[in-house]
Amino acid sequence: MESKQRCIIIGASHAAAQLAPVLRQRGWAGTISMISNEYYLPYHRPPLSKDYLAGIKSLEQMLIRSPEVYRKSNISISMGVTATSIDRANKQLILDDGASLEYDKLVITTGARVRKIDIPGSDLKGVFYLRNLNNAQKIKPFTGSDKRAVIIGGGYIGLETAAALRKLNMQVTVLEALPGILQRVTAPEVADFFSRTHREEGVEIVTNEQVIAITGDKKVASVECLSGADYPADIVIIGIGVIPNVELAAEAGLHIDNGIKVDEYARTNDVDILAAGDCTSHFNPIYQRQMRLESVQNAQDQASVVANTLCGKLKPYAALPWFWSDQYDLKLQIAGLCQGYTDIVIRGDIKGSRHFSVFYLQEDKLLAVDAVNSPQEFMLGKRLILQGNSMDAGQLADENIALRGLLASSPVTANA
Ligand SMILES: Cc1cc2nc3c(=O)[nH]c(=O)nc-3n(C[C@H](O)[C@H](O)[C@H](O)COP(=O)(O)OP(=O)(O)OC[C@H]3O[C@@H](n4cnc5c(N)ncnc54)[C@H](O)[C@@H]3O)c2cc1C
Repeated sequence: MESKQRCIIIGASHAAAQLAPVLRQRGWAGTISMISNEYYLPYHRPPLSKDYLAGIKSLEQMLIRSPEVYRKSNISISMGVTATSIDRANKQLILDDGASLEYDKLVITTGARVRKIDIPGSDLKGVFYLRNLNNAQKIKPFTGSDKRAVIIGGGYIGLETAAALRKLNMQVTVLEALPGILQRVTAPEVADFFSRTHREEGVEIVTNEQVIAITGDKKVASVECLSGADYPADIVIIGIGVIPNVELAAEAGLHIDNGIKVDEYARTNDVDILAAGDCTSHFNPIYQRQMRLESVQNAQDQASVVANTLCGKLKPYAALPWFWSDQYDLKLQIAGLCQGYTDIVIRGDIKGSRHFSVFYLQEDKLLAVDAVNSPQEFMLGKRLILQGNSMDAGQLADENIALRGLLASSPVTANA
């Protein structure tokens, strides 16, 4: 391999921190440089709404890799700089400090940013979003025993934040505009389980509640809703989704389809520009559709595909998506994607216990599994999805029948 080749990675988070060292291990002999608009070495983002917010983990404990890994692999990281444009004709990356860097291969791992809410008062002191460490650090001084938090949005980030703030003994209200929490990502039965658990843990969950304004004199005082209700607040945290950071790619003429469009080798429509993680969309061969994922699994697995491609070892991306969410003593592990399901099968006691699993079927085909405190079901569920055999709902529900016994003897082909 040409030792003078220059690889630049834009962004330094889950995808980049996987890519750079793996690229070196696979034999990339040229330079590897990461450009980050944050001020920290790549860190695990999931604890921001979990153990970091609850004061259980520090930044040092959240670093994805130790500083030595980058040093030993001769990977440079420029922090606090933003890439502002890509000059594809001259193969140059332009930065906001005026520098222009030449590249042979460019990898875009710019991730996603929070979706902002456009209502009066959203810029008041005490109103926050949660995407990065800076956000979490600013939130911390507003937390504390008996303070009142209003969380706008009943998705995973909102609910994890609620659980973390309850650990700090705060009074927590979650406001959700839709008729139920987690509505877009899970079955009503699973959402009901999480609603009930949060209520048992002391969180007020209000659905069908549309926020119209945040009020206060300089600092937040309350959240006003269309229903006329008014929720007092010392702090407001907004978690209403994210938007992929595709502008840099779009302005450079790369194809966008709800994310930077990449092929199975993580290549864009420019042979010298690749992309990975939350900012991309790809065709998933298991579900046979184009998709953009927001998960650590996808960021890491796609980054490994980039490393292979850059080293000339073409290996298509065909991983089963999986996610997790930690709330209180609950570990929810999700294998696959449930969109398009026609039936669900519940294995275990969803109404009276804190461990069970829910299987999502499209006719007799298993699409996804939500496993709560049931790691075995999660692991076996992944394998059952990948095998793609027709499933019997009665057998899945019957806890006397071992899931392992439902696995066919044929080997699984995709990367689970
Ligand atoms: C609070 C929270 C909790 C989460 N919990 C979970 C979980 O439990 N499980 C799970 O699977 N996933 C979880 N996620 C999602 C997961 O963190 C993301 O899927 C993952 O971070 C994606 O990694 P990435 O490298 O693609 O992008 P990102 O992590 O978004 O990183 C992109 C980086 O690029 C930088 N950047 C963007 N544009 C530029 C530019 N022009 N120049 C320089 N730098 C730039 C950004 O600032 C950022 O540092 C959570 C996310 C958050 C915020």
